[in-house]
Amino acid sequence: MSAGSSDLDLATRLLRATPTHEHRAVEQLRAWAGVALAYGDELAAGADIDTGDVRVVEREGGVGDGELLLAEYSRGAVTLYTDSLRRVEELARAKGWPVTGESLRRAAVAHELAHHRLDVRELNRRLGHTAARLGPFRVRGHVAGADEIAAHRFAHHRSGLGVSPLLITAALAEGY
Ligand SMILES: [Zn+2]
Repeated sequence: MSAGSSDLDLATRLLRATPTHEHRAVEQLRAWAGVALAYGDELAAGADIDTGDVRVVEREGGVGDGELLLAEYSRGAVTLYTDSLRRVEELARAKGWPVTGESLRRAAVAHELAHHRLDVRELNRRLGHTAARLGPFRVRGHVAGADEIAAHRFAHHRSGLGVSPLLITAALAEGY
């Protein structure tokens, strides 16, 4: 996995690794990934989500057994897990990625806000249209992982992070 992998490739791979998608056609997953990325672009260009105006709390406790929790949103505040952020900074250093601690924090906060504020029904509506165009089956409800892709893309735009959050996520999933 290199920094040259496109977000579309990375997002398609993320969907492939998400339960319920293991056996879907790659064209379907790529189409959904494209819709989710475009939705993230649109959210970041708009003014609906203000990433500069949220309470941020920092604490340890994000690194668990085989799990890395970077941030969480709860009751109007984002909690950043400093031990997890350090792990990601180490990863970035090891990979030679231009990722600053500050941009990583901004990305983590923006990611959580995007989850909290994005319009899941609108995203599903767009994903459903893609499914109807592409194949005989219809999507009902929800495409697992699509909101995650939109949140990553939104966070990338709003944070100025030097590499795609999707690339970081893929590297973390590989156990770097
Ligand atoms: Zn997320």
